[in-house]
Amino acid sequence: MNKLLLLFITVFILQTSNAQTTYILCGKLVDTKLGKIESKKTIFVKENKIIAVKDGYIMPKGGTVIDLRDKVVMPGLIDFHVHIEQEFDRNTRLNKYILNEADVAFNSVGFAKTTLLNGFTTVRDLGGTGVNISIRNAINAGKIPGPRVFTAGKSLATTGGHADPTNGSSRVLIGNPGPKEGVVNSIEDAKKAVRQRYKNGADCIKITATGGVLSVAKSGDNPQFTIEEVRAICETAKDYGMHVAAHAHGDEGMQRAIVGGVKTIEHGTYMSYETMELMKKHDAYLVPTITAGKEVEEKAKIDGFYPAIVVPKALAVGPQIQGTFAKAYKKGVGIAFGTDAGVFKHGNNGKEFGFMVEAGMPAMKTIQSATITNATLLKMETELGQIQKGFFADIIAVDDDPTKNIATMENVVFVMKNGVVYKK
Ligand SMILES: [Zn+2]
Repeated sequence: MNKLLLLFITVFILQTSNAQTTYILCGKLVDTKLGKIESKKTIFVKENKIIAVKDGYIMPKGGTVIDLRDKVVMPGLIDFHVHIEQEFDRNTRLNKYILNEADVAFNSVGFAKTTLLNGFTTVRDLGGTGVNISIRNAINAGKIPGPRVFTAGKSLATTGGHADPTNGSSRVLIGNPGPKEGVVNSIEDAKKAVRQRYKNGADCIKITATGGVLSVAKSGDNPQFTIEEVRAICETAKDYGMHVAAHAHGDEGMQRAIVGGVKTIEHGTYMSYETMELMKKHDAYLVPTITAGKEVEEKAKIDGFYPAIVVPKALAVGPQIQGTFAKAYKKGVGIAFGTDAGVFKHGNNGKEFGFMVEAGMPAMKTIQSATITNATLLKMETELGQIQKGFFADIIAVDDDPTKNIATMENVVFVMKNGVVYKK
């Protein structure tokens, strides 16, 4: 081969490899592992991965440069509690009778996009009709923009429990839902329901361990599973590599959930100090959902927004959540950032940071909770939650230093997921 041709090929290879690298110039960069903010860094991104992070600004010829020198850059955020299929409004109660799966799917497309554009590059979806599994697949296949979704599919409840899909229906429509539909009443049902979720393609399991606010049922906090049922669910889930999340407001149901083996307690409204100690002992995490608490309290004051049976529950539970979070954090309970988006408008997930800071958690710790902690709980701590070599290129930016102005988390100005820029 003549030398000129060899030189030409070498230059060509160098240029193509350069052209594939994106250089992100970061004025400030949040190191979530060390919990500090560094200055003047360049992130090298190739395809969907971060291939290097270097000091100073590096702008080689031929590469694509993204200039975030006046921004604060951090890893994509992870919300551990969303409902990607729905957004609660006055009509939500009717939706299950009037919407077809395709309608639910089309609605979800917008919710997923909004979530991503607000900086949440990964979410754990804690319950819907099962369309959430298809949404995850469509996002992964690149058919629609959205966050990485880890979904529970349809939540598990007991008969008449918070996630019984026929609550509040007329007797003609109430039917007899079973494990397939997510309703369990025995140890055998529990195992079958978990295996059915696995078969359907769920990534994790969600149970409604106590009553809840928005279901058409009287109690917002009674225990709704026996400890044997919870244990059967958690042990079966473990066999299939899935963790279990438990919606819980009341203390008794929460304790059964923790002892039974759930990994995260959602809301945790009436959590006692004894239960906080139990959480620490069992290495369970609290997912605060303060934003949802504020939302239901506010909306319950609007005449007719919720069914009459929901209003007193919303007014009792809503105002408690932030205070419980404050106590649990102070007691040393692990906190997994999560909002319950869908109870309020998707895209407002970032408000949670401000509420957490207001309750006494330092800003940097709230960001670590939404990155490193949640990545670890997903067993993806070597791929998500940090800006490091080898991690997925899920990178976002805000205008201000969040340790000085936490509200900046509500205004994400740059979003890259899997190496693709969605907002700039
Ligand atoms: Zn929820």
